[in-house]
Amino acid sequence: MREPDWYCDEVVPKLIDVDVVRETEQVLAFRPPVRGFGTDHVIVVPKRHVRSLLELEPGLSADLLQVVQEVTRGFVDAHGGCQVLTTLGDEQHNRHLHLHVAAGEGVARFVSRR
Ligand SMILES: [Zn+2]
Repeated sequence: MREPDWYCDEVVPKLIDVDVVRETEQVLAFRPPVRGFGTDHVIVVPKRHVRSLLELEPGLSADLLQVVQEVTRGFVDAHGGCQVLTTLGDEQHNRHLHLHVAAGEGVARFVSRR
């Protein structure tokens, strides 16, 4: 049975209203309609189906990372910092590679602030 895939089914064909932050031939970056976490949150996905980071090919990874870099540059300018996060294996609920860029209250804290 095919796994549900919100990105291929609705986001990339733009069947739902998402706030597009950056779009290239191969990559889409957008703010989701319901913010996932943080006070600002952008999701970056390849437009063609790639299951996870483990299946990502070098040609596409360069494009994907370039968009992540552009998005994060904006986040650092606007918020002072951000996190980039992706999930794999049992931790990955939507089986289409997606990278979260998030900033502000509600993001995971890997180290405590003083
Ligand atoms: Zn997909």
